[in-house]
Amino acid sequence: MTLSEAPLDYLVVGGGSGGIASARRAASYGARVMLIESGRLGGTCVNVGCVPKKVLFNAASIRESLRDAAGYGFDVDVRGFDWDLLRQRRGAYIERLNGIYLANLQLSGVQVVAGRARLASGPSVLVGEQRFTAPHILIAVGGEARVPDVPGAELGLTSDDIFELRSQPRRILIVGAGYVAVEFAGIFRALGSEVTLAYRASAPLRHFDALLGEGLCEEMSRQGIELAPHSVPRALRSSPSGELNLERVDGPPLLGFDAVLWAVGRAPATAGLELEAAGIVTTLTGHVPVDAYQNGEVPGIYSIGDVTGRFELTPVAIAAGRRLADRLFGGQPESKLDYIDIPTVIFSHPPVGSVGVSEVEAKARYGEQNVKTYVTRFTNMYYAMTEHKPKTWMKLVTIGPEERVAGVHVVGLGADEMLQGFAVAVRMGATKADFDRTVAIHPTAAEELVTLR
Ligand code: NDP
Repeated sequence: MTLSEAPLDYLVVGGGSGGIASARRAASYGARVMLIESGRLGGTCVNVGCVPKKVLFNAASIRESLRDAAGYGFDVDVRGFDWDLLRQRRGAYIERLNGIYLANLQLSGVQVVAGRARLASGPSVLVGEQRFTAPHILIAVGGEARVPDVPGAELGLTSDDIFELRSQPRRILIVGAGYVAVEFAGIFRALGSEVTLAYRASAPLRHFDALLGEGLCEEMSRQGIELAPHSVPRALRSSPSGELNLERVDGPPLLGFDAVLWAVGRAPATAGLELEAAGIVTTLTGHVPVDAYQNGEVPGIYSIGDVTGRFELTPVAIAAGRRLADRLFGGQPESKLDYIDIPTVIFSHPPVGSVGVSEVEAKARYGEQNVKTYVTRFTNMYYAMTEHKPKTWMKLVTIGPEERVAGVHVVGLGADEMLQGFAVAVRMGATKADFDRTVAIHPTAAEELVTLR
């Protein structure tokens, strides 16, 4: 693409979900926008995150349905699963998405520059020998998977590597306790791998309401996932026969894996960005600090998304990026994202959905006497016909005498599709009485949330 000579209004560094959304929104107001990306458009979510993961989640869900089919009278013979064929089909889908992102940026009038950006004084942005400058610069470079600082860490894989594997691991150890760890544990197990999940605390997902980690652990055990709590990695070693063994700080080593996945969180992808050249000082974790309006400390430089370290979720980056563009170019000086009541889904098997505060957070914030919870556990009717009978767990956390619903937490079949609507209710300040007044939809799992006693 030939670059326009006209002065720029907005320079966006990073072509992931957040950067693209902000660039296009700014261009829709007539701003002259340039977006710089060194890799494939779409960032983590499209290329090595939400999208390929959801394809694998779907494959795993299909495998589970095939298993359940006999209970519904089907005589199904599953002869195999072609991991590499799915990888290729997924890759082709992602390539189409990369093309759609480019086409949409161009349609919006955003100039796209392929290359690695470095910040410089001015402030300005360098790509190779070229220098670009604009009154507003957005840093939206995202993050990258971390590995723990232990000997042999390089023998393990990150989630990026999993998507490149040409064959399915037979026996995989997953180290971690968050989204990526439990999502891949469920995927690999449903697709037939032997899975061990090793985590440092007594349960995974410990930053969520305790019901979710407990419920998911029960389900994962039932599926045959080996759970290894209190596992702090000390070293990863390869045996002469090529098997991988994890030494732990306490307890015997975990032995005999053909793959190990590190799922221990992500770090901001700022290496080589030369933030300091523009006067930007990062936090101790390497994130770029911003205020409520995404302003950094250097006037005219903003940041959104994973690089800021707040809610590393695609829709959060998109929302923050669009609101920033609304503020800078759309005549909406107060526009900003409120980082509260952000719903989230973990695509584990079964999925987890959560919005609002956990019971522990609510008690700490509002006082024990002001918090009332409603909990249920039941078997989804889908499983009435099947041999396996996974449970669903639900919790409402309510506050004060009016019982405002401040938290909805679900683990079970359908939780992923259930949460969005309930998140609207929580955001609007609905009370338990509002939930009760809502007529149930029968027979569904979601109806339990409006009939809790
Ligand atoms: P998370 O931050 O979710 O979880 C990582 C966990 O790993 C930590 O909470 C910690 O748990 C554990 N951990 C950290 N360091 C170590 C270590 N050295 N050894 C062993 N365990 C360690 O990170 P993920 O990588 O799972 O995901 C990154 C982010 O990406 C998430 O925060 C999420 O926002 C996003 N994401 C969202 C998805 C979705 O929306 N469905 C899917 C995937 C990712 P503990 O302290 O308990 O040991």
